[in-house]
Amino acid sequence: MHVLSYRNTLKIALAIAVLAAPALATAQSITTTADSSSKPIPVSPSKSFDPTAIDKSADPCTDFYQYACGSWMKNNPIPADQTSWGRSFSVLSEANIYLLWKELDTAATKPTSPLQQQYGDYYGACMNTDLLEKKGLSPLQPTLARISALQNTKDLTHLLGDLAANGYSVTPFSSGITQDLKDSTKQIFAISQGGTSLPDRDYYLVDDQHFTQIRKQYLAHITKMFTLAGDTPEQAAQEAAAAIKIETALAKVSMDRTAQRDPENTYHIQTLADFHTLAPALELPTYLSAIKLRPIDTLDVTDPEFFKGLSALIASESVDTWKSYLRWRLIHRETFSLPKAFYDENFAFFGKTLGGQLEPTPRWKECTYYTDNALGEAVGQDWVKQNFPPTSKASMDKLVAALEKSLAEDIKTLPWMSEATRKEAEAKLALFRNKIGYPEKWRDYSALKVQRDDLMGNLARQQVFERNYDLNKLGKPVDEKEWGMTPPTVNAYYNPSMNDINFPAGILQPPFFDPNADPAVNFGSIGMVIGHEMTHGFDDEGSKFDGKGNLREWQTAEDRKQFTERTDCEVKEYDSFVASPAHDNQPEVHLKGALTLGENTADNGGMRIAYMALLDTLAEQHKSITDKTGDFTAAQRFFISFAQTWCENTTDELARQAALTDEHSPGRWRTNGVVQNFEEFGKAFGCKKGQPMYPAHSCRVW
Ligand SMILES: [Zn+2]
Repeated sequence: MHVLSYRNTLKIALAIAVLAAPALATAQSITTTADSSSKPIPVSPSKSFDPTAIDKSADPCTDFYQYACGSWMKNNPIPADQTSWGRSFSVLSEANIYLLWKELDTAATKPTSPLQQQYGDYYGACMNTDLLEKKGLSPLQPTLARISALQNTKDLTHLLGDLAANGYSVTPFSSGITQDLKDSTKQIFAISQGGTSLPDRDYYLVDDQHFTQIRKQYLAHITKMFTLAGDTPEQAAQEAAAAIKIETALAKVSMDRTAQRDPENTYHIQTLADFHTLAPALELPTYLSAIKLRPIDTLDVTDPEFFKGLSALIASESVDTWKSYLRWRLIHRETFSLPKAFYDENFAFFGKTLGGQLEPTPRWKECTYYTDNALGEAVGQDWVKQNFPPTSKASMDKLVAALEKSLAEDIKTLPWMSEATRKEAEAKLALFRNKIGYPEKWRDYSALKVQRDDLMGNLARQQVFERNYDLNKLGKPVDEKEWGMTPPTVNAYYNPSMNDINFPAGILQPPFFDPNADPAVNFGSIGMVIGHEMTHGFDDEGSKFDGKGNLREWQTAEDRKQFTERTDCEVKEYDSFVASPAHDNQPEVHLKGALTLGENTADNGGMRIAYMALLDTLAEQHKSITDKTGDFTAAQRFFISFAQTWCENTTDELARQAALTDEHSPGRWRTNGVVQNFEEFGKAFGCKKGQPMYPAHSCRVW
């Protein structure tokens, strides 16, 4: 799934995997109400076009991002409970989260329907930190006891299956149902690498001063967590070293993040017998029957080298080493439902050290995220009634149609493409499906049992509920109407197997989409967002899938060569961009052009077709791109609106982490990288050829 912006999905993804930094409010006394500093307050979204955000002392032709965002960046430091703060994404997300919280808070006290009772109880259980203190580690004891009882590594898979079946999965790989990459009508079982806790394999493997220091702090963190769980300091240190030993070995056999972007690298259909030869010590069928997967003959093994390595590790490591690893993974994934001391320690490492976050996220906000993640289509039903008028849907339909028209025009006029490939590209575009706002049919949550006094149990039951929902898809027709994001989410995505573009209600508001703004401003923001998702269908990864969502080469060999020459240009360009400068023993970090290629291609293409759609719309209205509103021409307003979508401040810690893990470039380069590739920008601002934002040579794919 290709999302528009990773950081906004990060929180939700973390909530699913419970992998990092779910944190507790820093209130001195643990009560069910947040302290004053973390009280929910309403947030107003940013304006759709804001001249006061501009830094007039900067030259748009030298550094457009600084020009469009400079004053905003200066006046909007990162709030203490965030690792980055963006003018559009963060502020609108906070506005949505506040409205969602109001709904949850009401449902938790005065529910008026069974659905409200369910999500109100989920939220209420999450907020009851008094009860978590009282219970201490006791809810986790039965599961810890199961791990302690493991006698030898031959029974490891049986134990993993047993824990997963009960909703306390610490399985060192992930699995689930997915569309077959080469036959999108089929839903098949797939397994992929996993089992590590740090953000990327480099954290375990790179031997520079920065990562060596982080590994030291990580060891101290795990040791502290084991101590909190009752170990003596000696035991804790020993167990922590064992846990890191397993994680490091898993990191070594994991596929690099950039390599995973090529779908051919992650497609390996095998029989169960093949898989047994590959990974004999894993005894996969034992695991599959524990999680109640219906019988299968074949599966997709996304990274065979990983499973070979995992099997060797099961055979070679002692049972005690594995037990320490499993214990660590269990405590780590449960920090959100344990007493405050666990949250605080988790926050100190994953929030502060790795992310540069100064204060934990307030509890009410975390619990709102968790509830949205667990019961998003229940909460969302009421949310859209109040926050997504039918007129927004109608306006979006029009905008999407305008962008489709300009992408068709772009494909028709691309200089490097042959007729044969052009026909295929047009066929793919014609098969795009658009989903706008929220699902036509809401999910049924009646099988999810929620208890007001049992947060850990709720999370466990939710895990089982989600897995059953997923595994039940095996062999069934694909549900084209299913959504991968909840309605209030401020984001968008393209799915190559579905060949669909998806825009949740949450993003269809100012500053992205403003019914009162002029076309230049709307096309610069939501128009660019729509164009971005469409272009994903044709980026280095999307272009390997056809209109039916099947992995199939549809470009001629010569066209693919031309395409790759053009994407290589973008790889080199973005490789040169600095994500964080050298300072205090920290090396200079650059973006990874190959990791971010798909997103950069989508940013560049999306901007170009949004501009074309704006020209069409202005022509229909007998207006010109050079017409002025206030101080700016329509073209200038378009580019400023575009840049202001990406204004942000980020901690240095997150900037360094994201350079390794995020397929999206940071706001500065999402802006400057794109405008310096687009002739019309230099013309709009009267730049001289050869200035940084109007270079003599630039890159263009679409
Ligand atoms: Zn994207």
